[in-house]
Amino acid sequence: MGRFAPSPTGDLHFGSLLAAVASFLQVKSRGGRWLLRVDDIDPPREVPGSADRIISDLRRFGMQPDELVLFQSQRSFSYEAARDVLLEGGLAFWCGCSRSDLPRSGVYPGTCRNGLPAGKIPRAVRLRTGSESVCFEDAIQGPVRENLQETVGDFVIWRADGLPAYQLAVVVDDAFQAVNEVVRGADLLESTARQIYLQGCLGLPTPAYAHHPVAIGEGGKKLSKRFRSDPIAALPPAQALGTALRFLGHKCPQNLGLADLWDWALHHWELARIPRRAQRRTDGQDAGID
Ligand SMILES: [Zn+2]
Repeated sequence: MGRFAPSPTGDLHFGSLLAAVASFLQVKSRGGRWLLRVDDIDPPREVPGSADRIISDLRRFGMQPDELVLFQSQRSFSYEAARDVLLEGGLAFWCGCSRSDLPRSGVYPGTCRNGLPAGKIPRAVRLRTGSESVCFEDAIQGPVRENLQETVGDFVIWRADGLPAYQLAVVVDDAFQAVNEVVRGADLLESTARQIYLQGCLGLPTPAYAHHPVAIGEGGKKLSKRFRSDPIAALPPAQALGTALRFLGHKCPQNLGLADLWDWALHHWELARIPRRAQRRTDGQDAGID
């Protein structure tokens, strides 16, 4: 079971198309099911109408989810239940620190670990991290090892504004949807150790992970940001799909129609062909759109 989980913060762009295509082909080329989940738990960042446009763009590309689309905004009760399990088990704790209390490094110093200091009111919930490193084998990036105490410290699973943190919602829903293989952009690689650690704390299974390279523009900026104003929807789907496949190391024939291109891709798809990193640092036009 695989999934694509876009945030409705803008239209489908080249960066998110890569994640959709890679997750779709990885599961579909082996007879699995592909799910679509809208990560709409951050209302302040949402762009009205973008969830509908992403869903219809995916259909236009020929990517149809195998189950009803899941909206995270309708799953708050599940995230609250997971938070409470962690709090009751002593695996998480209330933190009263405000942004100005935290060091610039971003590593939480453990201030509220053993109870709220006098005068602090509970604001966010943090997960207690252990001293052991999290290790996993990424199917594209190879072995990854991260010591969470050194990189982030006890991290937030429930935000001070009362919303579930991204890491908690993803972990709860991947398990709820029985996702056993996560294929997504390498910009999310830095979240993976936290998610695996959280799965362990909640007694949930850990899926396999594969992080494909993200498109990088000349200034080293993620292309996804630049393409937000230049949605992929403006291109013929076969042309955009061909560009995505070539970026992902699959040298598809030129000038195939959409159906033939999918047919070719389903027969030739292999994670081993995907480069670890983007091969070229080119400008947006070159890497993004042929
Ligand atoms: Zn604190």
